Amino acid sequence: MNVILLGAPGAGKGTISKHLVDKYSMVQISTGDILRNEVKNQTELGIKAKSFMDSGDLVPDEVILGIIENRIKESDCKRGFIMDGFPRTIAQAEGFSDMVGRNNLVIDAILELEADDDLLIKRLTSRRTCSNTNCQAIYNVLYQPPAKEGICDKCGSELIQRSDETEEAITYRLKTYYEKTQPLIDYYNGGSNYHKIKADLPLDEIKASVDSIIK
Ligand SMILES: [Zn+2]
Repeated sequence: MNVILLGAPGAGKGTISKHLVDKYSMVQISTGDILRNEVKNQTELGIKAKSFMDSGDLVPDEVILGIIENRIKESDCKRGFIMDGFPRTIAQAEGFSDMVGRNNLVIDAILELEADDDLLIKRLTSRRTCSNTNCQAIYNVLYQPPAKEGICDKCGSELIQRSDETEEAITYRLKTYYEKTQPLIDYYNGGSNYHKIKADLPLDEIKASVDSIIK
């Protein structure tokens, strides 16, 4: 089972990815992580990618696709993989689709986690992060509060709201997300493997919807 996971910030992509990894032993493919790995290991593609990064340019799609292709050929991906954060554009989606086909694989499901902006804003603005840079534990004043308000359970440091998690910043992130992602959603929407999942339900119900599609 190979899956592409789409959803706005706060829609729960991280949580659902973890569920798929834990329950079905699928492999989560984060392009950021594998890119850093190739750069660190100085592979041919890693060296190429680094030359763009060093000059402050975006790494071109064909380099990213090459790195993803190497990753999905590894044996652990036979158990299924989850694409999280890629593709982001129609050009990447087309390149990815060609590459998947070339490797005799299929994308079994495209899962879009969907929730109202009000809920996404509420979820993200209620996050608090430990100010101790060696700890950085994450809490949520609504869903996972610390024992003592404003204080980290693990290290006793002050909890802060990150500057990219204020209401203003999140509203902007959501607007940018929809502008960039809507064309991609329109591109995938209507395909038989495309599933919209209501992400404003309790977590158990979201997991159950995902499970019913995976099965
Ligand atoms: Zn802490």
